[in-house]
Formats: sequence, C-alpha cells, structure tokens
Amino acid sequence: MWTKPYGKTGVDVSVIGFGGMRFAHPADLDASAAVVRYAHARGINYFDTAPFYCEDKSEEIMGHAFRALPRSSFYVSTKCGSADGGELRASLEKSLRRLQVDYIDFFHIWCLLRPDQLEERIRKGAIGAAQKAREEGLIKHLVVSSHLGGEDNATVLDSGLFEGITIGYNALNFPFRAKTLDAAARHNVGVVTMNPLGGGLIPRNAARLAFLKGPQDRDVVQAAIRFNVSQPAITAALVGFSSEHEVDEAVAAVEHFAPYPAEHIEQVKANIGAGFEGFCTGCGYCLPCPAEVQIPKMMDAFNAKILDGSDGAITDRLKWHWGLAPDAAAACIDCGACETVCTQHLPIRDRLKAIAALVGS
Ligand code: SF4
Ligand code: SF4
Repeated sequence: MWTKPYGKTGVDVSVIGFGGMRFAHPADLDASAAVVRYAHARGINYFDTAPFYCEDKSEEIMGHAFRALPRSSFYVSTKCGSADGGELRASLEKSLRRLQVDYIDFFHIWCLLRPDQLEERIRKGAIGAAQKAREEGLIKHLVVSSHLGGEDNATVLDSGLFEGITIGYNALNFPFRAKTLDAAARHNVGVVTMNPLGGGLIPRNAARLAFLKGPQDRDVVQAAIRFNVSQPAITAALVGFSSEHEVDEAVAAVEHFAPYPAEHIEQVKANIGAGFEGFCTGCGYCLPCPAEVQIPKMMDAFNAKILDGSDGAITDRLKWHWGLAPDAAAACIDCGACETVCTQHLPIRDRLKAIAALVGS
C-alpha cells in the first residue's frame, strides 16, 4: 500500500483511509469488524470514525476489529464536535472505551461550519481540554475537520493549533478548497480528504464525467480517488466501505499507480471549469429545515440540471428517484438558516425558487 507522511507527525498513513460511516449492517459487529480487518490486511492503516456514525455503532465496530490487531499497526481517528471542555473530555473517554485503545492517534476538533466556531471552541475549553489530553498521552495528534472554504481553513491552520485537517475535497468541488491545500503545504500539516466521490455524484454520472479519466484509469471512481491522492498536499482519501469488494476496488486504484503528473491534474481542473462548480454533495448539514423542506434531495435534483442542462432533469430526478414533486420546494419560508451552514455555500433559496417554478412543467 502506498503511504505518505502525515505532515510533521512522523507517521506514515495509507493513502486510502477507511471511512467508518458506511457499514451496511452496523448492528452486526462481527460482520462489520471483518470488513475493517480485511482493509487492514490489504494495507490500509488509517481508520476514521466518530460518535454517531452508523447509528452510533461505528466506534464500537472499530474497537471490535482492533482487538485482533497489533496496536502499532493502525492509526485511529475520531472526533468531538462540542465546544465545551468538559464535554470533550467525556466524549474522548467514551471513544477510548468504545475503540478499546489507550490513545487516539488523530483526534479531531469536529466539523467547523462557521469561521467563528474556532474561537468558540477555544473560549469554551474544547481546545484546552484536547491539548491537556495530548499532554497526558490520550491523544497523539490534535487535528481538525472543517467544512469551511479555502481561505477560512487557511486561517484555521495559521492558528498553529492543529497538526492536520480533514476536508471534503473531490474533483467536483476542488476550487472551493484550493487555498486549504496551499495553507497545509505552507505549514506542512496532513490533509485527509473525505467524500472523494462527491457523495456518489461521480459514479452516478460516470458517462458525463468521463473526462476525469486518464489513460491509466479503469473508471471514474479510480480516477477520482487518484485525482485526490496524486496531489502532493493531500495525505489520504477516506472511502466509506461497506464490503470487502469495495475495499478491493479502492486499493486497486492506488496499487501499482504512479501519481498523476501535475499537468494531468491541471488538465482535469481545466476540464471541470466553472460549469461544474456549485454541486451539492449531499452531506446533510443543512438539516433540519424549520419548514421540513428536504433540502439535500432538492439540491440533488438541481445537481442533475447542472450535469444534464435541462429543467426536465430536475423533475425527473425528483419524481423517479426521490418521489417528490417540485411544489415541495415552495414550502421554504426563506429563513436562510440552511445557507449559513451549507458546506458548499450553495444559493439554496434561489435554487428552491427555481425548482418551485417548475410546477406543472
Ligand atoms: S431557507 Fe428555506 S429551505 Fe432553508 S432552512 Fe429556511 S425554510 Fe428551510
Ligand atoms: S445543500 Fe449544502 S449542506 Fe445541504 S446537503 Fe447539499 S452541500 Fe450539504
């Protein structure tokens, strides 16, 4: 397995990381842990989990798998999204118990959605509590996960608090986070990318996105994973696995693979261009909506228009995939709450109005 140094930590991690948010049957600990152990046997050594993933079972599944593995053979990442220092400590201790380990290799200050949240995590004690846990040896490396844009992430890294950052980054949304990579390279910190397949958008639109493929690539999934890990500033790409077959597919993308030359990456970026900006990645952070608008489904339908260019693509996607009609978009009361937390900074309200206008079309 191809590994890269995680920033200045002295740790080499596999360029494919195991994303622990897609177990097919989380209640089945043995079957789920078997997928984790299989990935480890295939050379994956970075395992990412969090409280609440997979009906709150993901950490337990990972712990069940780790019992059979030498502690020095894997790196585990988990997270806490609380700003309060006491709550972070309690969450960390719970994660240690569930993961059945004495320390967390990469502990994330979880999910910065607004620039002011870093200051809040400092002021309310979360950062201090994590630093204390690091001094005690319960955390090896303090890192951060963020849905902010590139410039805001650069500010987060400029704080010097973190040894690495986890961001959503893929061949469709890369312009939004380019400055994060610049800042990470400047500070020599690790960058783990989540969502390399754009929340399934890339495989679902394989024909339309065929230009992502280089001569060595079997399909767009391979191409999308390689696009991420070929970039020098990116340490690893997290892939959510639910089966051993999926592990094999991802491992095949990086085995015997020479990273894309810079020219190929630039060519892909040029091909994508402005017309592919503004995709919803289906992360769901915009929910709940006070008017119960099913925002990710509506925005997924709008993605279909971005890809296919027609209003009919929206109505087809709503009708045949989601069982919804365009008039469901008219329930929006224009409060704007979703746009303040949208990880892709999408003009959700404008898009909902455009969808609602398709009623009867
Ligand atoms: S702006 Fe509309 S869609 Fe967004 S949260 Fe408010 S009511 Fe819901
Ligand atoms: S609208 Fe934004 S926050 Fe909501 S699912 Fe899409 S990308 Fe995520």
